[in-house]
Amino acid sequence: MEKTMFRAFLIKYGEIAIKGKNRYMFEDALVESMKHTLTEVEGEFEVTKEMGRIYVFVKSEYYDYDETITALKRVFGIVGICPVVIVEDTDFENVSAQVLKYIDDVYPDKNKTFKVNARRANKGYPLDSVEINLEMGGRILDTYPEMKVDVHHPEINLVIEVRKHVYIYSEIIPGPGGMPIGTNGRAMLLLSGGIDSPVAGYMIAKRGVRIDATYFHAPPYTSERAKQKVIDLAKKVAKYTGPIRLNIVNFTDIQLYIYDQCPHEELTIIMRRYMMRIAEDIAKANGSMALITGESIGQVASQTVQSLAATNEVCTLPVFRPLIAFDKEDIVTIAKNIDTYETSILPYEDCCTIFVAKHPVTKPNINIIKRSETHLEEKIAELYKEAMESVETILVE
Ligand code: ATP
Ligand code: MG
Repeated sequence: MEKTMFRAFLIKYGEIAIKGKNRYMFEDALVESMKHTLTEVEGEFEVTKEMGRIYVFVKSEYYDYDETITALKRVFGIVGICPVVIVEDTDFENVSAQVLKYIDDVYPDKNKTFKVNARRANKGYPLDSVEINLEMGGRILDTYPEMKVDVHHPEINLVIEVRKHVYIYSEIIPGPGGMPIGTNGRAMLLLSGGIDSPVAGYMIAKRGVRIDATYFHAPPYTSERAKQKVIDLAKKVAKYTGPIRLNIVNFTDIQLYIYDQCPHEELTIIMRRYMMRIAEDIAKANGSMALITGESIGQVASQTVQSLAATNEVCTLPVFRPLIAFDKEDIVTIAKNIDTYETSILPYEDCCTIFVAKHPVTKPNINIIKRSETHLEEKIAELYKEAMESVETILVE
């Protein structure tokens, strides 16, 4: 089948859940995300909202069908993508011939049940929807005797929409679901080079949240390659989320100072508390209303319930941890699906692995941690300020 016979795509979205004013916001954000995503696809497209439906029309002679579908499958808020054949000559004899051709092209195996589902938006059309259903159904049965009608659970729900032109479609390619980016505020992802945080960012973005990111870099203990890996990961996540402002913080001096002043078994917890403080400050300065991490209960010493509580204690913004109850295996499955996994497993050191103690505390006591942090009082404010001033912001898209 020549896939480029499809000259439009009807976009299905979770319209039942959204009413009134929110509906417009939802649709406009969806249209914007789609336009942005389609700029990467070979071909020229028009994304429009008409009569409560969203369509992509192909404007160029040539376009890449597979790339178009792949791109649309990344747009949060899309529930289904229906490739549409547009018939310009609406004379019923012509429409009927095109419908029969459509069935032959799309369903080489005719041993299927079907239903014709005509909709007449153009009330001037000589046949009404019931007449189209009956007449077209009869012609299909005559032409393809293996096919059978089933009006309740058809395998093929053949929609014939009569407007200025006639639209024919039957297939629904599943989209990612979720909500369009930008419909649910903005949040700051703590993005490391690992497997988990890109997945966490993806999951929260899928709920319509625009994402910024912060990466803590510790040169020369962490290399340029490690930093580049994080930029590459942000790029992969940005394919779903749209542009990400990635803040890179030079964390070396704070880490070294903690290493000098605090008990080594508490290093990771104290370090993570400083990461959260800094990420929160950057978030607040840039309009983010929450933090996002890739933490999951019990995965490592710094992610026991006690450790999570100790880390969380320094934040006033809500911290979203979408992977909190996920097994590593399930996280890996998502990472592979969204294509971040191969980048995440590149073996470049991250700043947490260099300063890890042999026996980190697994049940930190917040009061003890706070007491250890008092050992930092002399210089930490100045180092904190320097770290904030070191922030390099890259727009990743
Ligand atoms: P990940 O696979 O996301 O790196 P992890 O299993 O390695 O997670 P940790 O290193 O304990 O776990 O980090 C927990 C979370 O803290 C990460 O998911 C991430 O959100 C954040 N984080 C850790 N290191 C950094 C870093 N260098 N820069 C920014 N965020 C970080
Ligand atoms: Mg990590």
